[in-house]
Amino acid sequence: MRVIGRRYDQGQPVSLEVHDGVIADISPWRGGDKASLPWLAPGLVDLQVNGYGGQEFTDPHLTAEAVERISTALDTVGVTSYLPTVITQQLDVQLHAVRTIAAARETLSAVRQRVAGIHLEGPYISPEEGPRGAHPLEYCRPPDWDEFCRLQDAADGLIRLVTLSPEFPSAPEFIRRAAESGVIVSIGHTNANSQQLQAAVDAGARMSTHLGNATHAYIHRHPNYVWDQLADDRLIATIIADGLHLPPAVVKSLVRGKSPERIVLISDITALAGSLPSQPGPHHDPCLGHVEILEDGRVVVAGQREYLAGATQPLHVGVTNVMKFAEVDLAAAVDMASARPASLLGLPGGHLTPGSPADLILFHMSEDDLRIEIVETMVNGEGGREKGDRRTLNIEH
Ligand SMILES: [Zn+2]
Repeated sequence: MRVIGRRYDQGQPVSLEVHDGVIADISPWRGGDKASLPWLAPGLVDLQVNGYGGQEFTDPHLTAEAVERISTALDTVGVTSYLPTVITQQLDVQLHAVRTIAAARETLSAVRQRVAGIHLEGPYISPEEGPRGAHPLEYCRPPDWDEFCRLQDAADGLIRLVTLSPEFPSAPEFIRRAAESGVIVSIGHTNANSQQLQAAVDAGARMSTHLGNATHAYIHRHPNYVWDQLADDRLIATIIADGLHLPPAVVKSLVRGKSPERIVLISDITALAGSLPSQPGPHHDPCLGHVEILEDGRVVVAGQREYLAGATQPLHVGVTNVMKFAEVDLAAAVDMASARPASLLGLPGGHLTPGSPADLILFHMSEDDLRIEIVETMVNGEGGREKGDRRTLNIEH
């Protein structure tokens, strides 16, 4: 199979050969009008997907088929690898969720190709109003290594990323053991002080989860947990650049403060992504609980307007927002959503180089508002977006 497009990183038209699901060769293409070609980039890698299309992963009734549905639905938004994210809930629900995801990955090839692991976000997070975000208070608790091992066993070792707060005495030891076992520890939903944050990073925490969100509405000017994490070069920060979770000035400041090389874009999308009610107003979701959709598109915990309840915009929206807000180029922005998260997970993808998996996206991007339209998504060289029956002119078999 041959794919023709403009390289996202160099702008040059190329012809890319795919054999057996792998990029076999890339050569210059001189066939015609460069401007009309779609952009060609590695598939996006999303470290935080809570759900999609009406389905949450943290669901007592989650099925393997539902995991497959979400996995292939993400093709439409250019995501070729992702971490299903299981959030704070009672242990039985979390056990069921991770067990079901692991079973789906074992038995369904579409899931195996796309699910790169599981992100466990909670229950080891702050019970404080604000840092807790939309996670249910009654299940927030200190890190418990034995309990985590039960979850990891149920997940068949698939938990690759755990978001926790280091504000608890048990946190440093938990972090050290998790890091030693190969799990990436990310600081998030936290009310930790400077010393606790320092101890967490010394113990092996490597990331910050959606830095700037899940905070108090009002915080001490300095020190505080945002500055401390922003300043620590050992931490890579994920951010939600959907235009709703962080104002443009904050996105720009975080990208400049961290450096683009230490930023990873995540979507943090929930079941409401791909199924957002057309009218603003109160909404009850069996998994999300009572939320309210505001006029500006934000989804908040019902009864207030300060604390958000997850996102609805797919990852590629963040790619173009970070270009606009932080004035980075397309290559840097795409890398924040592909090469960088791929390398964090140890995935071989994220690059347009021979030998890499043919996880690819073709997209158009409007010059005026930088909006991305995904034209085609390939996972291991297979066009999944339209179940194989729709092909662009830029792919030849
Ligand atoms: Zn969160």
